[in-house]
Amino acid sequence: MNHERSIMGTEGRDYISAFSAQARQAILQRADNQCEAHDGGCGFDRLEAAHIVHARGENYNSPDNGQAVCRPAHFDQHLNHVDPSLTDYQNDWAAQQIWLRMTPAERQYYITHQ
Ligand SMILES: [Zn+2]
Repeated sequence: MNHERSIMGTEGRDYISAFSAQARQAILQRADNQCEAHDGGCGFDRLEAAHIVHARGENYNSPDNGQAVCRPAHFDQHLNHVDPSLTDYQNDWAAQQIWLRMTPAERQYYITHQ
């Protein structure tokens, strides 16, 4: 049993929890339900409220700290580890969770547009 890894995993889940429902709604409305990573060009309408900075603090749940992006874009952000406030483990965990909730069409879009 790898005890250290299980502790890190617990921290990872806690550390990168989602925006509140209210903040999420504000982020998606501000973006007019268009993917902000692709200026709506990807055509996906099931968008995620993605954190810009994942460091815990006053601003963590602020809509100012979020952007509306499609799942392929959100996955790409984590695969490329664009936020240095996440550890490698937290970032990899986040990427894995996004990949698991992506539809086949979203995965195909990611594969053909990377
Ligand atoms: Zn997109």
